[in-house]
Amino acid sequence: MTFKELGIVEPILKALKAEGYTHPTPIQEQSIPILLRRKDLLGCAQTGTGKTAAFAIPILQHIYLSNQQNRGKRKIKALIVTPTRELAIQIGDSFTTYGKFTGIRNTVIFGGVKQGSQTNALARGVDILVATPGRLLDLINQGYISLKDVEYSVLDEADHMLDMGFIHDIKKIIAKLPPKRQSLFFSATMPPAIIQLSRKILGNPEKVTVKPEQATAERVEQAVYFVAKKEKIKLLTHLLKTKGADSTLVFSRTKHGSDKIVRLLERAGIHAAAIHGNKSQNARQRALGRFKDGKIAVLVATDIAARGIDVEELSLVINYDLPNVPETYVHRIGRTGRAKASGVALSFCDVEERPYLRDIQKLIKQQVPVIADHPFPDEREEDLTQKPKKPKRSSKPKRPQQQSRQGKFGGNRNSGNSQSKGSRTYSRRKR
Ligand code: AMP
Repeated sequence: MTFKELGIVEPILKALKAEGYTHPTPIQEQSIPILLRRKDLLGCAQTGTGKTAAFAIPILQHIYLSNQQNRGKRKIKALIVTPTRELAIQIGDSFTTYGKFTGIRNTVIFGGVKQGSQTNALARGVDILVATPGRLLDLINQGYISLKDVEYSVLDEADHMLDMGFIHDIKKIIAKLPPKRQSLFFSATMPPAIIQLSRKILGNPEKVTVKPEQATAERVEQAVYFVAKKEKIKLLTHLLKTKGADSTLVFSRTKHGSDKIVRLLERAGIHAAAIHGNKSQNARQRALGRFKDGKIAVLVATDIAARGIDVEELSLVINYDLPNVPETYVHRIGRTGRAKASGVALSFCDVEERPYLRDIQKLIKQQVPVIADHPFPDEREEDLTQKPKKPKRSSKPKRPQQQSRQGKFGGNRNSGNSQSKGSRTYSRRKR
């Protein structure tokens, strides 16, 4: 299947070609025909699957075709609501990229910055508005935005919206949309609260599901290091120095923790920056920009700040702390291995995080290979590996890792797949 066969118009095809997109991803192949038929859509998919283009391309196409008939002052015809500023900016960039030969204009609004440049852009007229909920309501209430001409609405990352407490804002926004419109609703997970919300928004939707959890976990090469909490920074420094990873995203559970990691890395001579909710929007964008440009090698982020970060060359993800919600692990490792490419994700696991690792392995239905041979092993690892939840008696001696192969992370593995290729360095991936 090609984009042309999906019936995409020439100016968008040209832009996709320029981006190097040869074939639609599964979510695009399934969703684009539905959306071109103007049906509502309930999409179960997360970032990394190509879902932005899955909704952006048909919306651009509808607007492009209708703009050819009626020219006049631009009105907001499509509204995309998304939980974080980073995601909003990326979605806006995607519309700009795919729509660069269509003459369609978009703008992005989000909180945490002065509103002047945003209201100026709105005053010049836009076809597509990408917004985070709070700033959107704020500017509607101030009279800068009218949603009365919206024909296409997208609620992106709905589960994340609920996690962040946006439910009331979302309901208020929905109430302001014209009833006759095409509605799209995307969520990585579909718990009952999300299904309930989707029913309020969607008419009689078609459903598209891409199994991101397994797909991501299968695509990304993973390994775990058992390490004491206080030794994690040494292990991180060691890995960054020895593996030559020049585009590494490190996840920290807390804002304070990520600042500390950056300080200690800088002290060790590794250029790093942190992004999290306490940083100003400008500081976050600056850090992300420098990371994307390769000026800093390591970005340390909390989950909220990193969700949806789309850095194509990301070669390595390191979970400095393991998340206590297993789905978060899948979201994190999905930052590398975007679209169809493969990536590498390494995790540090201290004694208190062992239950988290078990939950993760249950979710992804895989054992994450253990790198036992590294300079900062957790002394208690042997006890721990011999203390599963339900004790199993084995006549064989433990620690089979002694005979294991040299893995590509430079250490020995005691489980996992067999594609050993010796140690490797990580470098920026080319598209
Ligand atoms: P998303 O899930 O929207 O965050 O997209 C994940 C990544 O896949 C982004 O870097 C896109 O640029 C890329 N992408 C989306 N669609 C395609 C495609 N059809 N071919 C190649 N890359 C794509």
